[in-house]
Amino acid sequence: MARIVMKFGGTSVGDIDRIKNVARRVKAEVEAGNEVAVVVSAMSGETNKLVDFCRQIAPLHDAREYDAVVSTGEQVTIGLLALALQEAGVNARSWMGWQLPIRTDGAHSKARITTIETDTIIERMSQGQVAVVAGFQGLGPDNRVTTLGRGGSDTSAVALAAALKADICDIYTDVDGVYTTDPRIVSRARKLDKITYEEMLESASLGAKVLQVRSVEMAMKHNVRVQVRSSFSDAPGTLICDEDEIVEKELVSGIAYSRDEAKITLVKVADRPGVAASIFGPLTDANVNVDMIVQNVSHGGGATDLTFTVTKTDLERAVQVLTDARETLGYQELVADSNVVKVSVIGVGMRSHAGVAQTMFQALSAKGINIQVISTSEIKVSVLIAEEYTELAIRALHTAYGMDAA
Ligand code: ASP
Ligand code: MG
Repeated sequence: MARIVMKFGGTSVGDIDRIKNVARRVKAEVEAGNEVAVVVSAMSGETNKLVDFCRQIAPLHDAREYDAVVSTGEQVTIGLLALALQEAGVNARSWMGWQLPIRTDGAHSKARITTIETDTIIERMSQGQVAVVAGFQGLGPDNRVTTLGRGGSDTSAVALAAALKADICDIYTDVDGVYTTDPRIVSRARKLDKITYEEMLESASLGAKVLQVRSVEMAMKHNVRVQVRSSFSDAPGTLICDEDEIVEKELVSGIAYSRDEAKITLVKVADRPGVAASIFGPLTDANVNVDMIVQNVSHGGGATDLTFTVTKTDLERAVQVLTDARETLGYQELVADSNVVKVSVIGVGMRSHAGVAQTMFQALSAKGINIQVISTSEIKVSVLIAEEYTELAIRALHTAYGMDAA
């Protein structure tokens, strides 16, 4: 017997038949003798619709009322799933966030969970009752409903699993696991059996939209074993777990990419102490996140070029800030380029193995792809390249690291 949390996303509860399918899966776990809590999202499309209603009334809406509106999608699905379970002969009841309660801070529309009161549901689960809990929502310090940011039901599920000390948190979704790279780009991408929290965090923050980033942070912090799997098949998914649980570590576990990048080059900036601070200070003040940075070799004559990346959405603001400060910064020219993509190779294996970056550079050079900027961390090497080479680069790297499925 195990205690498990099962989470179902929007497509998995997208219509009545699918909700009945979820009830069947939950029933199977109950009949196998497990204690079960279920976390559900709103039916697919519902949250978008609710967000849009708020925007139509007021583009700059009161976040507390926004939360009152957008949290309702999950109320519908918990009630329907509890009914479907009862129809299937399973003892079940629904729980809104405030009924447990799931306590959060007061940051409406992007609140963080602080505590979850579990005494009552633990008692009922031990008596065989399934707890069907609304994802995405919580209760703020002033007793108003909060929401956790888009995709927040993943975080609800992991937080509940941590609070319940569950043996596993199964995240059922419309993909059957975590892949070595985007299968739409590489047909021979492989599903991973296991991936470490760190690697998953890197790929989640690089835009692989399988899980909300916060849910992975939470799982890592509380050591919750999370399995991503399909709600439409019985195949095992991908286990996200501690490094110690992975016996055969792969050198590289995946290739991620992000199209949400733009490059800025400041030509002929004065090459003297304090210049970087005077450039990045105003960008920080304007809330622009700078990611990769390179400073080129000096031109001689005390000037150098400085290149860095920001997100595409921040590009306009960054250019504005730097143009306004041109007098003080004293650069000759500003060149902006949003026709770029960041491609990253991720793997905890590179902590202990040299040569991972070199393999990447060679594979790209063999395809004639020019690397514009490079950045590295302990478990990741990223390069910035021209956007039109995205697919070519990812395929070449996938092959170079021996990840192609047989
Ligand atoms: N329903 C919410 C959303 O669409 C939360 C979730 O699905 O995880 O963002
Ligand atoms: Mg989701």
